[in-house]
Parts: sequence; structure tokens; C-alpha cells
Amino acid sequence: MMKYVYAFEDGKGDMKSLLGGKGANLAEMNRIGLPVPPGFTITTEVCNKYYTDGETLTSEVLDQVFEHLVELEKKTGKVLGGLENPLLVSVRSGAAISMPGMMDTVLNLGMNDETVKKISELTDNQRFALDSYRRFIQMFGDVVLEIEKYHFDSVFEGVKSEKGVKNDVDLDADDLLNVIEQYKAVVQRQKGFLFPQDPRKQLEMSIKAVFSSWNNPRATIYRNANEIPHDLGTAVTVQSMVFGNMGEDSGTGVAFTRNPSTGENVLFGEFLMNAQGEDVVAGIRTPLPVSQLKEKSPVVFEAFSTAVNNLEKHYRDIQDIEFTIEKGQLYFLQTRTGKRTANAAVNIAVDMVAEGLITKEEALMRIDPKDIDKLLHPTFDEKGLSAAKLLSKGLPASPGAASGHVYFYSEDVVAAKAKGIKTILVRTETSPEDIEGMITAEGILTARGGMTSHAAVVARGMGKCCVAGCSEIHVEEQQRFFRVGTQTFKEGDLISLDGNTGSVYEGIIPTTEVELTGKFGELMQWADEVRVLSVRTNADTPKDSAKAVEFGAEGIGLCRTEHMFFDENRIAIVRRMIVSQDTEDRVEALNDLLPFQRDDFIGIFKAMGSRPVTIRLLDPPLHEFLPHEKEDVASLAESMNMREDRLQEIVNTLSEFNPMLGHRGCRLAITYPEIYAMQCRAIFQAIVHVVKEDKVDIHPEIMIPLVGHDKELSILSDMVKSIGTQILGDAGIDTPYKVGTMIEVPRAALIADEIAENAEFFSFGTNDLTQMTLGFSRDDAGKFIGEYKQKGIFLRDPFESIDQRGVGKLMKMAVDLGRKTKPGLKIGICGEHGGEPASIEFCHNLGFDYVSCSPFRVPIARLAAAQAAIKNK
Ligand code: ADP
Ligand code: MG
Ligand code: MG
Repeated sequence: MMKYVYAFEDGKGDMKSLLGGKGANLAEMNRIGLPVPPGFTITTEVCNKYYTDGETLTSEVLDQVFEHLVELEKKTGKVLGGLENPLLVSVRSGAAISMPGMMDTVLNLGMNDETVKKISELTDNQRFALDSYRRFIQMFGDVVLEIEKYHFDSVFEGVKSEKGVKNDVDLDADDLLNVIEQYKAVVQRQKGFLFPQDPRKQLEMSIKAVFSSWNNPRATIYRNANEIPHDLGTAVTVQSMVFGNMGEDSGTGVAFTRNPSTGENVLFGEFLMNAQGEDVVAGIRTPLPVSQLKEKSPVVFEAFSTAVNNLEKHYRDIQDIEFTIEKGQLYFLQTRTGKRTANAAVNIAVDMVAEGLITKEEALMRIDPKDIDKLLHPTFDEKGLSAAKLLSKGLPASPGAASGHVYFYSEDVVAAKAKGIKTILVRTETSPEDIEGMITAEGILTARGGMTSHAAVVARGMGKCCVAGCSEIHVEEQQRFFRVGTQTFKEGDLISLDGNTGSVYEGIIPTTEVELTGKFGELMQWADEVRVLSVRTNADTPKDSAKAVEFGAEGIGLCRTEHMFFDENRIAIVRRMIVSQDTEDRVEALNDLLPFQRDDFIGIFKAMGSRPVTIRLLDPPLHEFLPHEKEDVASLAESMNMREDRLQEIVNTLSEFNPMLGHRGCRLAITYPEIYAMQCRAIFQAIVHVVKEDKVDIHPEIMIPLVGHDKELSILSDMVKSIGTQILGDAGIDTPYKVGTMIEVPRAALIADEIAENAEFFSFGTNDLTQMTLGFSRDDAGKFIGEYKQKGIFLRDPFESIDQRGVGKLMKMAVDLGRKTKPGLKIGICGEHGGEPASIEFCHNLGFDYVSCSPFRVPIARLAAAQAAIKNK
């Protein structure tokens, strides 16, 4: 026969999926000798059975329930509905994964017109008995009979106002009798039957109601939002009641074994004397801090703190506890792992290692890498935030907190900054032209675009606070204002952005900074000890490189040379180079660019020292650098001594239908070899400079993007090497360097064995690889990806977390083929996925050498790489 019901003595803490979290932990607390009121749990399997049986409890199930009830009656010496010593129970819900407040609980079950009299006699406290009865009718009416709460509330408020009192406790026994009679009348009026007096009937109805609450709309929505499967089911726990509302020597409370917001190792919580169940949370009276229990009742406090200590030692993690004191006797009613802030999580994990409670590896596994993100960026201070006026909400595109004056153009942001003004760049959407403004502003706000829009990706790369796709705001860049609702914000007005929540506020809010030292630093060091993957960074400037090293980066996995092209001093030269009509003109412009590039590389090599630095040669379509506004075309034409209409014509011919699949990456260098030749000369001259002048032992790696054919790579790597041989040879040095390629065109993955012939390393560009494998344009996928997730086609956005079954298969193939040609071929990843924990674990399992991500994600990647190593030992 199936076992449907478990007494607390039959269960254990590890039976959560069968008994629910609450049921399993009650059994566990009982097992280790803590005072827990006895009871039993009906399994989650019965919940599913209840639904397949057409929302009924079969006699098999009910028989087992009542057998356990009889056992419970023996244990307590009380009888449900009995007239000598009536038993009262609670009927509690509890799923395997905690869903706070989503399902229902009934307290004081077993009360009826007869038992209430006996209980008032036995306790010598009529008021208490009547108060418990009226609470029961109210809860039962709400949860089981589904009568709208206000029917009961209006009765209760009516009785109070008739008597002219405000508080529950001011009602005496006669008033409560009156309330009870009126409550019963509400039931009869609303349901057409009398309030059920038979306690066994009450129990059966309540169990069914708890199972039904598994599918109530708020529980369903909660499961959807938290990706909890709908077929887990809830368990139902039936437990004998203890009473915190028996007078001033009774009470109830909730406590955390440590402070859940700071992690400090002190008991934290609140309690109320003479109160029951939810009263503490419901805010009926102001609860007292749990430390004051010591004064109220030293003996109870002593017992409590010892028990709580043991409980935490037993579970080896911070506990969130419900307790009740009945006439000086302490009972535990619930314990679960306490939810905590990111900051507390780190502090608690490190403290617990020091206390010998957990191992370093366990500490590492306890931190959610996503939480690290919150620790690294400034946040608004709580007081300021609660006083701030919320204007609107967009997507939390890049974490952090920023306040500043609104500006709409990159140039204006830069000019304001020169005057020492803090700015927020606000635009309908951003484009590569806005890069300087994005670098300079404190934060970025856009009205359009998703989590992988230009603004979002670039901001995350820079670790800059960004709220994207804030569709309620309407931006008029040219007139320099934006509107939200009825409010208008002009250039110079103040706003604040919260990149963690996507909130936009009016005015300035003070922020609090974070530090990388102390316990956080210690934890990161443990991560470094266990991880196998190296962690590099994507950085384009000496400043970013230095920041990344501070965060623990072991090299640069991607230095994008084109970002250097947008600089104010250079863009004109770049544009001149692009519109050149013959090689000679182009070479001349390129020669003007060379010193700038060389200086950038010198800066980056110095910042990185002996750490490897991967430089990617020019990648984006040339069109991205061209002037788009008419006035820019005019001024460029003037500087080039060219007619404006002629220049406009050239600009037009450079435009492409599908630039991402157009003339870019290595294709540029196949047609204009002089572009890569200039970049290579800049790199090798920089190498010579750094090695000779600064005597640094550097490890440069030159990377060719967008290769799909082995010939593309062989032609270009030959060119790189011949320039290298010449420049290094002339200087008389033999600094070793590597030439490799990105694997981002699916064809390259398919013929990776041939590509590997000419490659000394592979770096997966998973943004393009995803885009081209799925045929989803990264810039347009935002429109439909949400629907794809909702319909379960993709569990996660493939641009956020690698599509392991599709794109991942290509990656595995490329790794295997590449290393077949060259065993030990160095392999890394430099797409956005390189900072995403699930993708990092995937790379670990494929045997990568390193992952590379934006500086602010480096600590996340270090932790995720450590977790991958621990999980896949
Ligand atoms: P929730 O999941 O909403 O917290 P619970 O099942 O934990 O629901 O119960 C709600 C409240 O009732 C809690 O404060 C709990 O401590 C209290 N409670 C539950 N069962 C009993 C009982 N047998 N005796 C006394 N109080 C109880
Ligand atoms: Mg609870
Ligand atoms: Mg790419």
C-alpha cells in the first residue's frame, strides 16, 4: 500500500520533495530533539493524486489521515472534537521549494460551539477560547469556504465601533460571542449552509483547500516567475496547536540566526507577547526586537538561544525560524534556510568557514555568482531611495546607481564633464557614435532597445549603470528634452538611475560604494585556488585594463581596436581613410592613424605587464564610422577638399543591406590589406617600444576576426607574420607572439581542423556565432525572444546564456577538430557569454583554457569557474 502520510517521527530533513520544506524540517527538528508540537504530513504525491482524482480525497488517503489523527490524539492525550480535552490543530501548506505567502494555512481547527466551552473551562480563560474560535471561523471562511474577507472585517469593525474601541484586545468575552454569532450568520448567508461543526469534516475540507491553493492564480504566477515546475505539488502538515495568545507569559515571533542584511553573527528577529501566528507579520501591534526577550523572560531566552544555536550548527546555514511560547514553554514551528542579501551571503559564508562549520568549497557553492554583480557596483543608500520619487521603469540593463544632469548628445556630455558636471546620457537609443558620451556619463538611459541592445551591451562592458528600453519616456533629442507622463525634463535637469532594478527617479540620490577587500577578497582567493579556467577580460583602454587587473583578470581576451577609432581626434582621420578613392590616399590616412594606435597598445601592454593580451584586428563594417548627419558630411567634405554631394555619394555606396553579414572583419583586409597592415605595424612597434624601453616581458596575441575559410586565415596570418618578422628583426628582438582567430562564423567551426593549421589559438566569438547559427539578428531578436521564452522554445535568451544544444554543439565540434590538428591548442571565449555562469560551466566542461568578459564581470567569472570545477570534479 502507498504511504500517503508521515508522522514527524517518520520523516527527515532530506525528504523535502515528498514532505515539502516545512514538513521535512519539522520532522528534522523533532528528530534532533527540539520542542516541536507533534503532527503529521500528507505528501506532495497526494497533491498530484488529488488533481488526477478530480479534486477529491479518496478513502485510501482519508483512512491514513484519520489513522494518524488517532495516533496524534494518543500522543497529546487530546481528542479532535472531544468534549473532555479537545485537540486543536493547524493545517499548513508547504512545497519542496518555498513559496512564501503563496498558499494557505488554517489555525485553531477543531473549534466548535461545544469545544470552545470546554477549552475556556480548561484554560480558565474564556476570552482566549472565544478569540481562538472567532479567528478560526474567519480563516476557515476565507481559505476553505472562499468567502470574501470584507464580510468578516465589516462585522469585526462594526462590533468595535459600536463599543467605541480601536484594538482587538479591548473586546471582552461578550463582544466576542457577538462576533462569533455574526460570523456564523455570514457563512450561512454566503454559502447557504451552517458553519461546519464536525471537526473531522473541518479537517477534510481544509486539507482539500490547501491542495487547491497550489493552483490559485498567485501561486501559479509565482511559479512561472521563478521557474518552479507546476507538478511538484504541495504537502499538507497537520499539527497540534500551541498558543501564544494565552496571556502575558505567552507569545510568538520570527528570528534569523544571523543578521540577514549584513550577515553579522547576532540573533535577529521580532516577537509579540500574547499574540498568535501571523500577528507579528501583520503589524497589528509593533513587535519587539528578539533581544528584549531576555528581559521579559530570561529562562525562555536562554533555552531559545541555545536551541537556535544548535539549529544553525545542525543545518550549517543561517536559519529563519518561527517560534511560539505557550505559558513559558518554548516551541519551534518552522525553520528554513534564511534569505539574505548579497553582502550578507558573502560575510556569512566566510565567517562559517572560520567557525569550522563549512568547507571553503561549500562556501564558494553558496554564493550566487549573479549576486557578485550587485556587490561590485555602487547602490543607492536606503534612506535616499525611500524618499525618492519614481518616474518610470525600464529594463535593468547594466547594474549600478547613478545620479546626474540630463544631456542628450555625446558631445554635450563630454563638454559638461569638462566643466565638472556629472551627467546622465538620455537617448531614444544609442549607436556606436555615442561611445564617448557613454564613457563619460555617470549613467545611460534609453527609451528603446532590449537587454542586448547597443546601450545595454556596451554599458555592461564598461560596468556603467544603464536603464534601457524605458518605453514610458519620450525623448526629443534635437529639442533637448524628454517627457514622462505629464513631466518634462530639459537639458541640465537632475535624474537618478538604478541599473539593478531599471528604476528612474527624479533628482539626486546619494550612493554607497563597495570594496573588494576583506571577506569578499578572501572568498575570491579561494575561488582562484580551485578553478581550472583562466579568467581574462575584454578591455579596450589602459584604464579598463587596469580596472580589470584590480578585479583579478589574468590577461586580455579581447581588445577591440575599433573602439579607439571613435575618439574625437581620430574619427576624422578614420573617415578620411574610409572614403579614400585609391590605395595611396588610404595609406596616407592610415599612416596618420598609426601613432594613435601604437600609443594605445603601449598603454595596454604596460597596464597588463606579463599577462597575455589578445588584440583583435578591425572588425565592424566601415559604414559604422561614417558620418550620418548632414552637417557632419558637410564638415568632413570641407576638411577633405571634396564636394559635399560627392562625399554623400560615397557614403551612400558604402551602405549595406545587412551590415552584420556584410563587408566586415577579415573581409575588409582581404580587400584592403593596408588596413590590417597598419594595425600590425602599430602593434609590433608597440611591442618593440615596451620591450626595449620598459623591459616588460609581454605576451601579445593577434586575433583575426570573422574567418570562415582557412584561406582567409592563411593569407592574413602570413601578412601579420611577415610584418612581425620585419619589425622585430629590425629591432633585434624575438618576443614570442601568437596569431590566432575567432571562431564565430559557423563554417569556421565546421572546418576547424583546417583552420587550426594556421591558428595558434581559437577564441569563440559567441555573439556572432549565436547570431549566425540561429539566424537571429542580435539587434532585432528582442522583439520575439520574450515570446520564445514564454512558449518554452528557449528556456533562456541564447544571447545571454549559450544555446548549449545548438551553438554548443558547434563549439564542441570546433574544439575537437581544432585539437585534432593541434593537440593542446589554446582555446577561449570572448563573447558576452564569457561572463555568464552557465556558459562558463559549459566552457569548463569543453576543456577551454580561459573565458574572457568585461572587467566588472571578472569576479563573477572567477566564482563561476570555481563552481564549475567543484561541481564537475
Ligand atoms: P506561512 O507559510 O504562511 O508562514 P505557516 O503554515 O507557517 O504559514 O503558518 C502561519 C502562522 O501560523 C505562522 O506564524 C506559524 O508559526 C503559525 N502556526 C502554524 N501552525 C501552528 C501551530 N500548530 N501552533 C501555533 N502556531 C502555528
Ligand atoms: Mg511560516
Ligand atoms: Mg564578432
